[in-house]
Amino acid sequence: MTATLEPTTDTGAPTPTFDSLNPANGDVVGTHAVASKADVDAAVARAREAADWWGALSFKERGEYLLTWRSVITRRLAQLADLSHRETGKPHGDAQLEIILAIDHIAWAAKHAKKVLGPQKVSSGLLMANQAATVEYNALGVVGVIGPWNYPVFTPMGSIAYALAAGNTVVFKPSEYTPGVGQWLADTFSEVVGGRPVLQVVTGLGETGNALCTAAVDKLAFTGSGATGKKVMAACAENLTPVLIEAGGKDSLIVDEDADLEKAAEAALWGGMSNAGQTCIGTERVYVHEKVFDSFVTEITRQAQGLRAGDDAGAKIGPITMPSQLKIIKRHIDDAIAKGAGVAIGGADAVGERFVQPTILTNVPENSTAITEETFGPTLAINPVASMDEAVALTNATEYGLAGAVFSGKNGMDIARRIRAGMTSVNSVIAFAGVPSLPFGGVGQSGFGRIHGPDGLKEFTYAHAITRQKFKPIMMLTSFSRDAKLDAKVASLITVMHGGKQTLK
Ligand code: NAD
Repeated sequence: MTATLEPTTDTGAPTPTFDSLNPANGDVVGTHAVASKADVDAAVARAREAADWWGALSFKERGEYLLTWRSVITRRLAQLADLSHRETGKPHGDAQLEIILAIDHIAWAAKHAKKVLGPQKVSSGLLMANQAATVEYNALGVVGVIGPWNYPVFTPMGSIAYALAAGNTVVFKPSEYTPGVGQWLADTFSEVVGGRPVLQVVTGLGETGNALCTAAVDKLAFTGSGATGKKVMAACAENLTPVLIEAGGKDSLIVDEDADLEKAAEAALWGGMSNAGQTCIGTERVYVHEKVFDSFVTEITRQAQGLRAGDDAGAKIGPITMPSQLKIIKRHIDDAIAKGAGVAIGGADAVGERFVQPTILTNVPENSTAITEETFGPTLAINPVASMDEAVALTNATEYGLAGAVFSGKNGMDIARRIRAGMTSVNSVIAFAGVPSLPFGGVGQSGFGRIHGPDGLKEFTYAHAITRQKFKPIMMLTSFSRDAKLDAKVASLITVMHGGKQTLK
C-alpha cells in the first residue's frame, strides 16, 4: 500500500492517491484520493449543514430513507459482494453473507429508532410528584466512523446505520485496503437522499483517519486494532470528542464433556478458519474437556480434510488481506511449535506468500503467542482442560474480552455467564452478530461502547431529561422562602420514606 502522486486534470496540482489491491493476485482494484486535513474538515462542515436537514426529519422519514437504501443494497448485492471479494480476497459467498447481515441491521435500526430514542415518560417519584418527567435521546450531530478491512460492510455499518437512524450525519473513513467498498456505500446512500451529504466517505491512510479524529465531529466510532484505538483516543481527547472503540479479541470456544462433538468441531473450524481467520470475533482458542479431547481433535481433523486456502472456486478460504499479517501468523505458529505444541493439520509451512493453509495446533503452552496475542489467521489452538472451571479461568486469562462460544449439553448458559466478554453464543458461533436487537462490543482491550440494538442507537445520542411542572409543589424546597419548619417537615418525610428497613420484592 503506497501512496503515489498523480496530477489532477483541472489544476495540474498533484493530488496524492493510493491503490487498493486484490490480495489474491496484486491486481489494482481501484485508485483513490488521499484526503487531506482540509478535505476532511470540508467534509465535516458539509455534514454539519446536512445535519440540519437530516436531524429535523421525523424518525419515520429517516427510517424510510434508510429502508430505501437497504433495498438498493439488496438489489445490487452481487455488485457489492464482487467489489468486497476483490478488495479483501474473501470468497464471494462470504462477502455476500456479510452484506446480508448488514442489510438486516439497517432495517432494524430504521424500524426501531423511534421506539428506543423517542420521548419516554418516566416516573417522577414521590418527592417530585408535581413534575411530569420525560427522557428523549437526541442526535449528537456529525459522527466520524473509521473502519477496518476485514468486514468492510458489516463492521462499519454497525456504526453508520445506527448513527444515521438516530439522526446524525456521518463522515466515514474506510480502511485503505477497502476504500472502494466504502465509496460504494456512500454513493448509493447519496442516490437515495438526492445527493445530500448525509453519508460521505473520505479515503486515505492513517493520517486521514487522524484528521477525522481531530475534526469537528461530535463522536468518533472506531473499529480496528487496539494499538490504533489508543492513537484515536489520544487524538480525540484534544477536543473532548467521545469515542467508541471496537478493537481486537482472542476469543475461545469451550467444549464441555457432554457437548455434541460433531457440531462443536464444525463450529470451531468455521469460527477459526472462515474469512481466513481474519475475524475480530473469530475463534482462536479452543478449550476441550479432557474426557473428550482426543475425540474432538480426531473429529475436527476429519472435518478439516479438503479445506484449503486459494483463489480458485474450490477454495473456501481466501488470501490474507494485509500482507504484513503473514509474518505475525508465522511467528505465532513457530512459537507454539518451538514451545512444544502438537500439529494436527498445517503447521510451520502453512504460511505462503499470500495464502495461509488451515493450521490446527494442540496442547499449546499458555505462554505462547498463539494463546496470548491476536493471530488473525486461519489457525486454532486446541487445549485440554480438567474442568469447566479451568476452561472459564483460561478463557478469562486474557486482556481481551470480545466474544466467545460454549458447547455443552446441560450447562451452556451457566458457563456462558461466567465468561468476561461482551458476547457469547451457546451451541453455535457468532450467532449474536446476526441478532440486530443484541448489543455488540467488548470489554478490556477489546474496547468499549456498543453498536447494534437499542444500546447501539443510544450510543450515537445524548440523553435529554426534561421535567414539566404540572402543579405547585406541596413543599416548595427550591426557594429562599423555605424556613426551618419546612426543613423539619421534609426531614420527617424522608425518614418515613427511607429511614426504615425495606426488603426488595
Ligand atoms: P487498524 O487499526 O490497522 O486500522 C483501522 C482503521 O484505522 C483504518 O481505517 C486505518 O486507516 C485507520 N487508522 C490507522 N492509523 C490511524 C490513526 N493514527 N488515526 C486514526 N485512524 C487510523 O486495523 P485493521 O487492520 O484495519 O483491522 C483489524 C483489527 O480490527 C483487528 O484487531 C480486529 O480484531 C479489529 N476488528 C474489531 C472489530 C470489533 O467489532 N471489535 C471488528 C472488526 C475488526
